[in-house]
Amino acid sequence: MVEESVLDIFTRFVEVQAPSGFEEPMMRAFMEEIKPYVDEVHGTPRGNMIAVQKGGNPKAPKVALVAHLDQIGFIVFNIDATGFVRFRKIGGSVTRAIQGQHLQILTEKGPIVGVVGMKPGHITTPAEANTIPPIEDMYIDIGARSREEAIAMGVRNGTPITYATAPVKLANGLIASPSIDDRAGCTALIQIAKRFAKKRPKATVYYIGSVEEEIGLRGAETCLHDLDVDMAVAVDTFPAGFQPDVNMRDLFYEVGKGAGLHVGELGDRVRIQSQQVHKWLRRTAEAHGIPHQVGIMSGGTDAMTMMQTRGGIPACTIGIPRRYSHSPVEVFAPSDLENLIKILTTAISELEPGFTTTRPQS
Ligand SMILES: [Zn+2]
Repeated sequence: MVEESVLDIFTRFVEVQAPSGFEEPMMRAFMEEIKPYVDEVHGTPRGNMIAVQKGGNPKAPKVALVAHLDQIGFIVFNIDATGFVRFRKIGGSVTRAIQGQHLQILTEKGPIVGVVGMKPGHITTPAEANTIPPIEDMYIDIGARSREEAIAMGVRNGTPITYATAPVKLANGLIASPSIDDRAGCTALIQIAKRFAKKRPKATVYYIGSVEEEIGLRGAETCLHDLDVDMAVAVDTFPAGFQPDVNMRDLFYEVGKGAGLHVGELGDRVRIQSQQVHKWLRRTAEAHGIPHQVGIMSGGTDAMTMMQTRGGIPACTIGIPRRYSHSPVEVFAPSDLENLIKILTTAISELEPGFTTTRPQS
């Protein structure tokens, strides 16, 4: 049974619009949600939000849970003389999902809704019908009749844009929404902080909202630099398969089968996460019978750059599987989120002084 409050937090977070580099609204939302449960919270000049919940025993390990505040989006590239808006991607939006969508241009005067236009079906040639135009050929129709009118509405070159698609509930409790990546992870952090506020573990927990993940894991590269932490866990989403156009050859994680515990990540090369941190979470899930899936994730997470901080901070990723990754209709199961929260709260509760993440050397 999923607690009502988890979905309440999630719903509040997906209403916030914060593409990479423009995270301020999510920085504020994260700060407001976590503040009642932690001892201190501050933002860094770069934008990472850092909250601390002191543990009962200063000798117990200090662990950072990191979820990224940003989401994929777009940015105004220019406005043509007739008022149509040219745009480019922020992060890795799936190009084939863009045409025909509602977008919102996040102007300083407030959001302006537009639609991504396309050639009428009647005059589309068969060759055109079978190709996806590059983003450079796409345009947003905001209803303006001229560049001047668009500018008067607040649209400028460099204004951020996000999908305006509303979240919907599907059968079996599934939820389809833009930016499940990583509002689900941010939700997990708030919920864990809330549970630990009632019953503090021995371990000190840092709850970190990182910026600029979708454009190269850039906020996480700096977020642990000034913190005295022993290990870090990136709490994120990841692509799942089990849909008609994906087979086990490429993606085997499944929505609804539990949180994902990645041994490593598969990008341009394989990166192996800290097996000490990974095993700590995996053994907890196994010992308590909490549904989880173990594998190699496709793509990168903040864990990869955190592992390169200072002398190298042991880190791993736990995540929520979702279908249609980086589209406006990502689909996830709230039960996976609840299981992820259970694994992390249980594992952190059981941390004792003497726990080490150092690789065995003899
Ligand atoms: Zn993500």
